[in-house]
Amino acid sequence: MSVRQQVQYLLDFIDASPSPWHVIKTIEAQLATQTQGWERLDETAKWALQPGGRYYVVRDDSSIILFIQGEKSLAETGFKIIGAHTDSPGLRIKPNAASSMDGLLRLGVEIYGGPILATFTDRDLSLAGRIAYKNDQEDIASMLVKFDQPLLRLPNLAIHMNRAVNEEGLKLQKQTELPLILSALTGEQLPQVYFSALLQQQTGIEAARILSWDLAVYDTQKGAFWGAESEFYANSQLDNLASCHAALQALLAAVTQTDSTLVCAFFDHEEIGSQSNKGADGSFLPDVLQRIALSTATDSEDYARALAKSFMISADMAHAYQPNFPNAYDPGHKVSINKGPVIKVNANHNYSSESVSAAMFAAWCEQTGVPYQKYSHRCDLPCGSTIGPITSAKLGIRAIDVGSPMWAMHSIRESAGVLDHDYMIRVMKRFFTAR
Ligand SMILES: [Zn+2]
Repeated sequence: MSVRQQVQYLLDFIDASPSPWHVIKTIEAQLATQTQGWERLDETAKWALQPGGRYYVVRDDSSIILFIQGEKSLAETGFKIIGAHTDSPGLRIKPNAASSMDGLLRLGVEIYGGPILATFTDRDLSLAGRIAYKNDQEDIASMLVKFDQPLLRLPNLAIHMNRAVNEEGLKLQKQTELPLILSALTGEQLPQVYFSALLQQQTGIEAARILSWDLAVYDTQKGAFWGAESEFYANSQLDNLASCHAALQALLAAVTQTDSTLVCAFFDHEEIGSQSNKGADGSFLPDVLQRIALSTATDSEDYARALAKSFMISADMAHAYQPNFPNAYDPGHKVSINKGPVIKVNANHNYSSESVSAAMFAAWCEQTGVPYQKYSHRCDLPCGSTIGPITSAKLGIRAIDVGSPMWAMHSIRESAGVLDHDYMIRVMKRFFTAR
């Protein structure tokens, strides 16, 4: 497959995944196309795993762990894990969201994580997520929902009413200036009734039976290549669906007979600190690893030996140098688009990388002909973090934080380089086959 085609698959993957709940559905759809079968495991059932078997577990519809059971004992090989996250910062619809004022029906939103709010203005926004409802048997069920058409908008104020916008930047008052315009047709209906009817129309579930929802605002604009040579690409949610996609491709390419147990863990809730039943700071990954050990009759000592042998790549995107803003970067650590995976280093351990794990990753890059770069944040700016430090602390395993370089992290429209996606997939494949 060509490098460009690989990125087209990534753009399609993102376009099919406008919310973390849809990410899981998209991954399941890709698993269904594989010649080697993938079996979905239920956390409430007993597991019987076979060497060479391919399995996945979903927790609460938006976190997923996939693994290929190794042929050798866990104590001998350890786990090879790639972690990433399924969520992206943005706007979420409040429970009693609909209200009408001055002839316009608006939806109230909550800010999820740390989006660049100004980028949400004047875009063709819509809604995707899941609803929970009472089914015909009076049981609680849930269902994905996605509106395809642009449904919502946050129109900017004209420059004539905000003369300083280009000098001071666009500042949005978070409570009063973020509600999204949904309709000019409120009629006689109460706003909540109108919104429920809209959900009924989209899902086929009677409005009175829809009891709650998790709805994310997404950008309906599809992903695109850009640049004179189409060497860049843009889409929403590159942070961190590009990493999920790269890791998934590496796992799907793994040969049937693998000595080590290979794991991909994609968590929701990274953007809000990972502390939840399905976040990286929750029990999901430890639970699944323990159950793999139990079903292979690995005793506690051998499980501890397995963790001691394990390694995790925490893959999340990195900040590429943008020459218009030279002062935002450490001059010695300008990482460039299309120059390979970035090893993220932070002495205060906002990233899990240390010298040995960094050297191991660099060696895997070298072995597969992939260039790599090193990033350190400016000392006078607070450094971001990700799932690497959390997961490696929880499990006690060696880890590294890496990512493909990108621009405009947490904008609703982010960009990155075509070559970097291929580089990342190659080094992840190498990791899965390394001794
Ligand atoms: Zn991220």
